[in-house]
Amino acid sequence: MVDRSPRGHCLPFVVAVLACATVPAWAAGAAPARAAASTELHAWEAGGDPAALEKWVHEHLRRAEVDIARLLAVKSARTVGNTLRPYDDAANELMLSVTQSSVLYGVGATRELRDKAQALTQTANAAFTALNLNQAVYRALAAVPTPPDAATRHYLEHTLLEYRLAGVDKDDATRTKIKALQDKITELGLAFERAVHDDVRTTVADKGQLDGLPPDYLATHPADAEGQVRITTDPPDGWPAQTFSNSADLRGKLYLAAQEVGYPANTETLRALLARREELARLLGYPTWADFAMADQMTGSPAKLAEYLGNIDVASREPGAREDAALLAFAQQREPSMQKISAADARYWQEQYRRARFSFDSQSVRPYFPYAQVERGVLATAATLFHIDIKPVSGVHTWHPSVTTYDVFDGAVRLGRIYLDMHPREGKDKWFSTQPLMFGIHGRQLPEGVLVCNFAGGTPGDPGLMQYGDVVVFLHEFGHLMHHLIGSQNAFVGEGGFLVEGDFIEAPSQMLEEFFHDYRVLTTFARHYQSGEVLPRDLFMRMTRADAYGRASGQQRQLMYTALSLDFHSLPPATLDFDAVYRHDFERFNSSAFVPGDHLWASFTHLNGYSSNYYTYVLDKVIALDFFAQFDPQELLRGPAGMRYRQAVLAPGSTRPAAQLVRDFLGREPNLDAYRRWMLAEFDAETTPSSSAR
Ligand SMILES: [Zn+2]
Repeated sequence: MVDRSPRGHCLPFVVAVLACATVPAWAAGAAPARAAASTELHAWEAGGDPAALEKWVHEHLRRAEVDIARLLAVKSARTVGNTLRPYDDAANELMLSVTQSSVLYGVGATRELRDKAQALTQTANAAFTALNLNQAVYRALAAVPTPPDAATRHYLEHTLLEYRLAGVDKDDATRTKIKALQDKITELGLAFERAVHDDVRTTVADKGQLDGLPPDYLATHPADAEGQVRITTDPPDGWPAQTFSNSADLRGKLYLAAQEVGYPANTETLRALLARREELARLLGYPTWADFAMADQMTGSPAKLAEYLGNIDVASREPGAREDAALLAFAQQREPSMQKISAADARYWQEQYRRARFSFDSQSVRPYFPYAQVERGVLATAATLFHIDIKPVSGVHTWHPSVTTYDVFDGAVRLGRIYLDMHPREGKDKWFSTQPLMFGIHGRQLPEGVLVCNFAGGTPGDPGLMQYGDVVVFLHEFGHLMHHLIGSQNAFVGEGGFLVEGDFIEAPSQMLEEFFHDYRVLTTFARHYQSGEVLPRDLFMRMTRADAYGRASGQQRQLMYTALSLDFHSLPPATLDFDAVYRHDFERFNSSAFVPGDHLWASFTHLNGYSSNYYTYVLDKVIALDFFAQFDPQELLRGPAGMRYRQAVLAPGSTRPAAQLVRDFLGREPNLDAYRRWMLAEFDAETTPSSSAR
């Protein structure tokens, strides 16, 4: 239920490392149908122009109407076959329309196509909302006798729950109002994201300010005749400069450029979005949007969430403060007059600190992570772990020539198709996400999904040397993709992995991140792009220890985003002072100095995708680490846990409640033990600074 963005799942909004996926707006379930030709299932094959896309989407919306008419025409007793099946078929058509419009909205080759895709995403979501408010369909589904098998029973019960949460039992006038609000919420959410995609800022630097940046960066950023270099806010461009430049002046400019994306354009868009959400929540009987958005989640209630977040805060605050204090003490050795580290300089000082304390320069591992090699390595790692084959497919027509295509097999059985759209280009979505293109129906339709990322590389002559954090992001996104592919092999589209409770979605992705920290896994692909030398063990050890530094403070930052998303969806929108609330939450969970002019909320697209439920990342981090602790460290990839995880957590998709998937794999409720060990790994191994003051 709830307006989840009609898009994918993703990277947490930690500018440094993480990544994400997007989910369709209908937790109620949806799916593509019948044996169909490729062009019928792929919007981008329909011609590639706006008119062709419009025709394609409207054809699927028409088919959904036919399915609904078929469902409503039944005169005999209601059954799964004559009612739930056509409902699912309709959902399939609507999901195809939503997922593919919304993917092309983010990656379409021309502005005209992206504009059309944006409008069609609204149209398709509106059709979904209409279906979720259709009382005749609801009554028909409610009349289906309880199915004997647990999976179908769960799907039916969950669908009926989503109908009730959507307001299907309200009177006509109220439902009309709900529909109008939902449609407006979709429109405003897309406008918010679009303003971010389209707002690339450029900072002009003097050549000398690039001191500290690696040679390959300098080679791709030559100075002009006046000795000036232009640096954009695209991640491969702006992030290295913020981390490595020795110029505080440049770092300050780059930071503000990044934190001003979407500002001020998104101010009124966001206020209008929050106001519509609040109005809708109240209409549906909830005091705030945050309460409403939590109603069908694994967490279940604001009280339970508050208790949970309190535990996370207790676990991470003190070690986070120790990390921050150690960083400040280090920076003060270099600059004795410094009182606080500016937020604009935090990444720079973290890098300098890791170099000094762990003898680890993050640039030293980049040559071992050229993009193409990492791509092969991540695919091979997932293939071994999940007992699948991932084979390249050539000659496939996609939306852009740079997109690569793979088929996924379980033995001889094809499970589905994945697409990788991995490098930035003008007008493309600027984040890192996994998005479904189709959901599967066993025996009839295979799932497909895409990674939409902005990694280095992709241009001739550029090896695309990645930061090690980028490799972790890649693994994160691939975790989502495997969840979607393996979890969408069930009887109904509405039983797909991405349709499980939204606050479980970041567990499979964050679980796969942990495989980065195993030397044997990493050295299957981490080889020097020129010499072919395997990543030396000593360098790996230093990287691992350096990487463990900052985990607790990183979790505090995640709590900041969590608090921000909850506050924005709990306080009255009309009088909400975005800057003041953001600064308040920033200072609750950061020890670095807030930089005036920082309007991060204006580009915080998770406010659309996850709305108030950003807490998903910290909740699922705990689960992910508990999952990972079940793997044998000596046999990470080839031990039995991989298949057991695939079968217990991924394959069921959304046929069981997420909490049950967790219990099925762990054999118990999750706990914070592995999470605490993970966070304290560095301090356990090191002499720690005595100060724990914050
Ligand atoms: Zn994610």
